Formats: sequence, C-alpha cells, structure tokens
Amino acid sequence: GKNQYIICTEKMKKEAAYTMLLSNHLHRAEEFDEFIIHYQPQINIDTGEIIGLEALLRWDHPELGIIPPNVFIPIAENNGLINSIGQWVLKSVATQSKKWQDMGLSPLKIAVNLSTVQFNNPNIVQDIKWILKETGLNPMYLELEITESAVTKEINYTINTLQELKKLGISISIDDFGTEYSSLNRLKVLPIDRIKIDMQFVRGIEIDEKDRAIIKVIINLAKNLNMKVLAEGVETKNQLDYLYDKGCHDVQGYYYYKPMPADEIQSLLESINNKK
Ligand code: C2E
Ligand code: CA
Ligand code: CA
Repeated sequence: GKNQYIICTEKMKKEAAYTMLLSNHLHRAEEFDEFIIHYQPQINIDTGEIIGLEALLRWDHPELGIIPPNVFIPIAENNGLINSIGQWVLKSVATQSKKWQDMGLSPLKIAVNLSTVQFNNPNIVQDIKWILKETGLNPMYLELEITESAVTKEINYTINTLQELKKLGISISIDDFGTEYSSLNRLKVLPIDRIKIDMQFVRGIEIDEKDRAIIKVIINLAKNLNMKVLAEGVETKNQLDYLYDKGCHDVQGYYYYKPMPADEIQSLLESINNKK
C-alpha cells in the first residue's frame, strides 16, 4: 500500500516471531532465576597462571534451552531491559567475587561486559558505586569491558564517565578492538588499561598474513600507549606461539579454558590454592 511494498518471507516472519517471543520472555528471566554467569580464565603465558576471569552471561530458558548472549543481548538493548540485566550481572559478579575472596581464594580481577546502551546510561557510575558498596568488593578486582562503539559517542561524556570509574579504582578494557570504527585519536585521550585483540584476528594467524599484520599493529599500539594487551579466542598452540613471539603474553581461549559455571571455577581455584 501507499506506493510501497515490503518483502516478507516465511523465514523472516518466523525470525520476527522468535525475537518477539524472546523479548517477552526476557521480562521474567531475571525474576525466575534463568540467567547464569559463566567465567572464563585469562592466562599469562610466562607463568601459566590465571590472571583474571571474564564473566559471560547465559540465559537458560525452561523450554528453549541455553540461549547465547549474542542472541538476547541485542533484544534486551532494544526492549530496554539491558540496564536491569546489566545491573544484575554486575551485582552477581561482585557478590561472587567477594564470596571467593572471603573463602580465602587468591583474589582475581573479574571483567564484566558493559553494553553500549548501559555505558551511555547517565546513572552508570552511581549504579556501580552502589553495587561496590553493597557487596563490599574492592574496586581493584573489577574490570569493565566496553567496545569501540561505546567510546565513539559523545567524547566528553565518555572521558568523564571513564575517569570517574577509574577514580573508583576500576579497570577498563576495550573489547573486540579493531572490529568496529576505531579512532586512534580517541584511544589516545581515554583512560584505558587494556586492549583486547578480537578472536577474528586470532583465527587468521595461521591462514592470513593480513590478520598477522593487524595483530602486530595492535600489540605495538598497546605497548606504545602504555596499555596492556590480551588476545581472545586462542585455540591452538600455533596461535599461542605467534602471540607470545610478538609480545602478547596474556591470552584467553579454549586452548586453556572454556567459560565455566561458578562451581567449576571454584574447584579450579581451590585446587590451585592448595598447590601454593
Ligand atoms: P565477547 O565479550 O567478545 O566474549 C568472547 C566470546 O568468545 C564468548 O562468547 C566466549 O565464550 C567466546 N570464546 C572464548 N574463547 C573462545 C575460543 O577459544 N573459541 C571460540 N570459538 N570462542 C571463544 P559468548 O559467551 O557467547 O558471548 C558472546 C558475546 O556476548 C560476548 O562477546 C559479549 O559481547 C556478549 N556478552 C556476554 N556476556 C555479556 C554480559 O553480561 N553483558 C553484555 N552486555 N554482553 C555480554
Ligand atoms: Ca568481552
Ligand atoms: Ca571480544
């Protein structure tokens, strides 16, 4: 109608219906305890030690099974639930982290992914302050991962927000570096502790000279800007050796560990503590 037409296939209809279903069910996921946090260790190659963990959210839907974050986070960003889900993740991670410390396990920094929508919420600093106070977690054990899209918005807002978070003692990482619009000029002025090399480049190490070139550039960039660097999605010995040789000694990936539920991480940390 109205001199326009829309192409709509059966497949598109099904996808739209599925998205709508998930969007509706997301409203009750938190209250029904359907969210689970997995933790993936980060390793320093020199010592082989676990230097930190990344918290990764999963949704265990009673009928549909485990739904990955790549599917439901964009939906939560659209229906406005991302702020409360993000709060829940931060609070759960801080509570868990404090609990592990109180049990006597060696304290580890835990990284939490922040959606761009969440980062751009003007209450974010207050919310995080409150969570730290409530849980009693020392901010030095919290790291926030933001993507380039979060830092390409209004530059003054970004700088101020990051500086306030840094003042609290929290660390900041740039996730998926190099996959979105990157502004080196912005990177220069932002208080960033670490750059994470995206899995997409790590995958290419054994097959594409261009991926190797990009990895070298990112490692040198981080070094020259006095930032730490970590490569994610490391699956093979060849990838590990290449990264090590080029000067990236912190890694995360299936080569060492997959993301695991809290109880498995706890057993792992306990067995390490016992060896010390
Ligand atoms: P990400 O932050 O880049 O997380 C890395 C993803 O790669 C995770 O997928 C992780 O399970 C996976 N991974 C880690 N090592 C390997 C490996 O060696 N090989 C392969 N093939 N994959 C590996 P996951 O858990 O499905 O998360 C996907 C994305 O969802 C994350 O990407 C992150 O952007 C987002 N996400 C996860 N949890 C949260 C959250 O609590 N809040 C927000 N806003 N986003 C989240
Ligand atoms: Ca991440
Ligand atoms: Ca990433």
